[in-house]
Amino acid sequence: MNRFEGKTVVVTGGNKGIGFAIAQRFASEGANLVIASVEAQVEEAAAALREAGAKAVGVICDVTDREAVTALYDRAEEEFGAVDISVQNAGIITIAKIEDLTEGEWDATMEVNTKGVFLCCQEAIRRMRKSGNGGRLINMASGQARDGFIYTPHYAASKFGVMGMTQSLAKEVALDNITVNAICPGIIKTDMWDYNDRVWGEMLGGFGPGELMESWVQNIPMKRAGEGKHVAALAAFIASEDADYITGQTINVDGGLIMS
Ligand code: NDP
Repeated sequence: MNRFEGKTVVVTGGNKGIGFAIAQRFASEGANLVIASVEAQVEEAAAALREAGAKAVGVICDVTDREAVTALYDRAEEEFGAVDISVQNAGIITIAKIEDLTEGEWDATMEVNTKGVFLCCQEAIRRMRKSGNGGRLINMASGQARDGFIYTPHYAASKFGVMGMTQSLAKEVALDNITVNAICPGIIKTDMWDYNDRVWGEMLGGFGPGELMESWVQNIPMKRAGEGKHVAALAAFIASEDADYITGQTINVDGGLIMS
C-alpha cells in the first residue's frame, strides 16, 4: 500500500525504538520522513530509511526548545512541503522512590514528555491551518496515562497530561480537518524498556536481567511483549483516510494489559 505517497511526516524521537518503527512504517507506505532526536545519530537513522528507498532527513532537535522545534518544522517544509502528519513520540523516563525523586527529574520529564508534545502540536497546527490541507497529530502517551505504575509519579503525570492535551486540542481543531489522537503502548521492547527492566527490577527486588519484563508479561492476556511495529501499525491507521472520523481518542496497544 502507498497510502502516504507524497505526504510529509514528522516523527520526534524517530531515530530508534518506537519512533524509528513508526518512521519505517510510514516510509514503507510512500511517505517523506523528517525524523528528529537530540543525538547526531538521527542522521544515521535517516540514512537507513533512505537506503530502504524512502525520502528522509534527520534533524537534531530538542523538543523542549521552542526555537529548535520551529526550525524542525521549517526544515520539513523546505524539504518536502506542508507537514501532513506529526507524531509526537519523544519521551524519557526515570524511576525513583518518592523521597528520592528530584525536582530536576520531575521537571525534565514534564518538559520532554508533555511540554515537548505541546510545542510540536502548536507548531504543526499553526502550519496545518495555514496550508488548509488538514492533518493528523499523533501523541505518544503510555499505559501510564491509564494507570500510574509504582515509582514513576512524574512519568505518569506527564502521560496523563498528554491524554488531556490530546482531548482539548482535538476539540479546538476539529473544524480545521485536523485530528488529534494518542497512543498508549504497553510493554514494548526498546532501550527504554531495558532501563525499566533493570531499574524497576532492582527496586522491586530480586529480578535479574530480563526477569522483570518476563514477569510483567505474564500479566498480559496475550503473554508477550509488544514491538515497535505494533505501535507503528496503529499510528499508520490513525493517520490514514480510514480514521478520518476518529479524534480525541487515546488507544492502547498492549496485548490487553489495560482494558480501560
Ligand atoms: P527510547 O528511549 O528507545 O527512545 C526515546 C526517543 O526519544 C529517542 O529517540 C530519544 O532521542 C528521544 N528523545 C528523548 N528526549 C528528547 C528530547 N528532549 N528531544 C527530542 N527527542 C528526545 O524510547 P521508546 O521508543 O521506548 O519510547 C518512545 C515513546 O513511547 C516515549 O514517549 C515513551 O514514553 C513511550 N512509551 C514507551 C513504552 C515502551 O514500553 N517502550 C511504553 C509506553 C510508552 P535520543 O536517542 O537522541 O536520546
